[in-house]
Amino acid sequence: MSVSYRDTGEIRIYALFCGGDRMDMAIFDPFDANVGAKMFNPYFAYLITHPNGNVLFDTAGHPDLRTNPRSRLGDGADAFDVVMQPSDWVVPRLAELGLAPQDVPIVVQSHLHFDHAGGLEWFRHARIVVQRRELEFARNPAVYQQGAYVRADFEHDLDWHLVDGEHDLFGDGTLRLVPTPGHTPGHQSLLARVKPGRTIFLLADATYLIAKMRQRALPGLLWSPDAIVESWLRIEEIERDEGAMLVATHELDFETSVPKSPNSWYS
Ligand SMILES: [Zn+2]
Repeated sequence: MSVSYRDTGEIRIYALFCGGDRMDMAIFDPFDANVGAKMFNPYFAYLITHPNGNVLFDTAGHPDLRTNPRSRLGDGADAFDVVMQPSDWVVPRLAELGLAPQDVPIVVQSHLHFDHAGGLEWFRHARIVVQRRELEFARNPAVYQQGAYVRADFEHDLDWHLVDGEHDLFGDGTLRLVPTPGHTPGHQSLLARVKPGRTIFLLADATYLIAKMRQRALPGLLWSPDAIVESWLRIEEIERDEGAMLVATHELDFETSVPKSPNSWYS
């Protein structure tokens, strides 16, 4: 199936569903009443159409997570019980939009955890935009985050474009990278002004669940509690100022809350 969005010139955000894993509620919130229950934690990448070129925000999980999770995650495969179908990764999801990886010149990574960076090796032709602190941390992670980074995801001959702080991707204000550290030191979110009066804020893992951010409930997988709370305040400030719609990657109610590519999109 091919979608003729190229003719429209509009900014659209396609949410590419890429499977997920069954993960303990404790990772979303160690004090939640449902700790001990396994929740389905979805993976998403986002294809953003823009008159200056397509942008991919995150690349979701590597296809080998489905066939041989231990080859990617080691013993971490026990904590993240991966549930993926053959088409639940970024290349077949792009194909549903009539796109090949070569049609995507820019990839922005929110951060480099395995469920966000697994498709990078298919984008050696692209500019990979990531916060410098994130790449440094991914290459030398703290002991409590070693299970979340897989070197084979990002140690390729990639055209890294390292940024420090806020970054206006095309210099026109439509796609802005906003540092949102806390989950990891170099985590960033993407603020998309898709049309006048309509702004979508792709938070990635700045919070797993919007509701938990509202409660100021810290997640179980975290780099800095102080930084994440500061990022939440900044996110809510931008939400108010821009009237932005907040989108987190791992929402549990994604089946009803997320418009799924290729037939639906954020615009
Ligand atoms: Zn993460």
